[in-house]
Amino acid sequence: MNKNFDFIMPSVNFFGAGVIEKIGKRAQMVNIHNALIITDSFLEKMPDGPVEQTINSLKQANINFSIYNEVEPNPKVRNIEAAKKVYLENDCDGIITVGGGSAHDTGKGTGIILTNGDDITKLAGIETLDNALPPLIAVNTTAGTGSELTRHCVITNEKTKLKFVVVSWRNVPLVSFNDPELMLNVPAKLTASTGLDTFVQAIEPYVSVNRNDITDGQCLQAIKLVEESLREAVANGHNLEARTKMVEAEMLGGMAFNNADLGYVHAMAHQLGGQYDAPHGVCCAILLPIVERFNIIASPERFADLAVAMGENIDGLSIREAADKAIDAMQQLNDDIGIPRSIKAIGAKPEDFELMAENALKDGNAFSNPRKATKAEIVELYQQAYDAE
Ligand SMILES: [Zn+2]
Repeated sequence: MNKNFDFIMPSVNFFGAGVIEKIGKRAQMVNIHNALIITDSFLEKMPDGPVEQTINSLKQANINFSIYNEVEPNPKVRNIEAAKKVYLENDCDGIITVGGGSAHDTGKGTGIILTNGDDITKLAGIETLDNALPPLIAVNTTAGTGSELTRHCVITNEKTKLKFVVVSWRNVPLVSFNDPELMLNVPAKLTASTGLDTFVQAIEPYVSVNRNDITDGQCLQAIKLVEESLREAVANGHNLEARTKMVEAEMLGGMAFNNADLGYVHAMAHQLGGQYDAPHGVCCAILLPIVERFNIIASPERFADLAVAMGENIDGLSIREAADKAIDAMQQLNDDIGIPRSIKAIGAKPEDFELMAENALKDGNAFSNPRKATKAEIVELYQQAYDAE
């Protein structure tokens, strides 16, 4: 438990159905006159979709814009360099990201290399940024990574296949929008994988060595909301109540890990994402029950709390039995919404496990994990995730 901490909150988040209409006015308030919209071509072309709605509001507020539409999953160094070029060629004075975590991380990365030097790989680590980013607004369309309100920017170095994280309070967008109506058309598979990321981002801070009483409350409420709504959101994407609860969970989890950090699930998932270009949420979800079973002995009573938050009945059980129930409930959630059990599904190969284990232990998220692992133990966890059926 961390009793002496800085607590980082998002600046301003506009929440609720229809709030996207306000974006033009909000962009004026943060002095954006000529925005670079960072998004992907799928969202850009969607009729009456999040990009079109953003543009309509910007036009009403007389704000000019250019578009970089080549955001890809697991954003690469080449993406932020290309977006920077578009920003400079068009004399932009602010960035608006429209999408999920990949769009927001591309926007943060672009902002970082606009004001903190060309080579972002040298800025990996915690609080490494000397200069403010250009004004940054994040329009969020998945629930999700929480990147629209966190200080984390995750980029993949395509040359080394390594993901690295620039963690800085300067990365927190000035304004973010969480409008659940923008999420109604997210496909079931993407809802499942991004929703599981939200779930993991509430579990890991709850058992993190850097947790505090404020983040504990955020995590437990986020877990409860995921339990109440993720299956429904996957089953019927147009269920606005389920979408709304998932965004609330995403924001709570985001605030929690912004302050209490994550653990080995993310440290190990980043290696899978970098090596195989696999979806972040799927990597996290497959690893979750395996890593947390390994973690139980660090604080079984915390895992018993998680079982209760997930709606399990622990009456008459020992603390250890209750903790095991939490792991079973995690696996059940994965199974219910179609997450594969093995990392074979994302193309993982056992010959890569040694190197990935070595890099996982260097990942910024490894240091807050409640149980300390050796490299051999991390290899064994990858192997379990490979052999799982
Ligand atoms: Zn995540």
